[in-house]
Amino acid sequence: MKEADKNRFQFVFGPVPSRRLGRSLGVDTVPYKTCSYDCVYCQLGRTTVKTSRREAYVPLKVLVREVRRKLEEEKKIDYITLSGSGEPTLYSDLALLIEGIKEITDIPVAVLTNGSLLWDREVRQGIDKADLVIPSLDAGDGPSFTRVNRPVESIGFDRMIYGLHQFRESYPGLMWLEVFLLDQITATEEKVRQMAAHVRSIHPDRVQLNTVIRPPAEKYALSVPKHRMLQFAKMFECKTEVIADYPSAYDTDRSAISREDIVHLLKRRPCRLEDVAAGLSIHRNEAVKHLEHLMVDGVISTMENEKGVFYVLK
Ligand code: SF4
Repeated sequence: MKEADKNRFQFVFGPVPSRRLGRSLGVDTVPYKTCSYDCVYCQLGRTTVKTSRREAYVPLKVLVREVRRKLEEEKKIDYITLSGSGEPTLYSDLALLIEGIKEITDIPVAVLTNGSLLWDREVRQGIDKADLVIPSLDAGDGPSFTRVNRPVESIGFDRMIYGLHQFRESYPGLMWLEVFLLDQITATEEKVRQMAAHVRSIHPDRVQLNTVIRPPAEKYALSVPKHRMLQFAKMFECKTEVIADYPSAYDTDRSAISREDIVHLLKRRPCRLEDVAAGLSIHRNEAVKHLEHLMVDGVISTMENEKGVFYVLK
């Protein structure tokens, strides 16, 4: 193996500044867009491998080794987050991975999951040792679930909800539920009331309301204005916050890539998300954060053609 390859990180990215998790070191446990859902709002585009089959996609020791190497380089990390560019619970060695991370550091481990597989006891046990788990709930009834999340056939709404209940009952750590709202689809009083009723019986430690900020997989996945998000937040009985739109969390000094690097790249040509990630040798999730902040600051915009969504300088 070449020296340069040995030093590269394939599965660990960041730390990226995150509003809810501080400086979060990401660990990608599944290949790009391997997911049990194909959400219409997905910032990574349409799902290419839609599956509920769990596999050891990456050798466990490779993941633990990369985390260890990164921790030797980076001292200021608030969370190690199992997330990435697909559904992390599809990784069958998740329990061993969390155990392996906990053997080398005291930094808390978070899991961002779509929650679709929590009905499976093995999956629940797999993330049981994490300090924080953030599953999603994007719909309050079956038709909305199918429309928004476009799950694999084997996962129906009732099964998904059952999984969230079972997980809450057995999991001793913190559970925050992310609720993603879409204008003209789920951001109505009736739909949010349905979701709030499910949330009441699941009783997570908190609810985080989110909406479209980054270019979604489908054009019709529309953002909900902030004032309406704040109104919807009042409909939940537990602690609820709106987490969409977080420009203040951005801090260029803390990032290895500066906004000038991205501006410089886009000066040469419009780029898709994957072009920016490849051009700057960073993970897609890291690229998406930088692009989001440049969008919020009005420096760049997007245009779409048959080859996808391109970022351009304004
Ligand atoms: S948003 Fe998450 S759960 Fe939905 S398709 Fe994208 S990666 Fe999968």
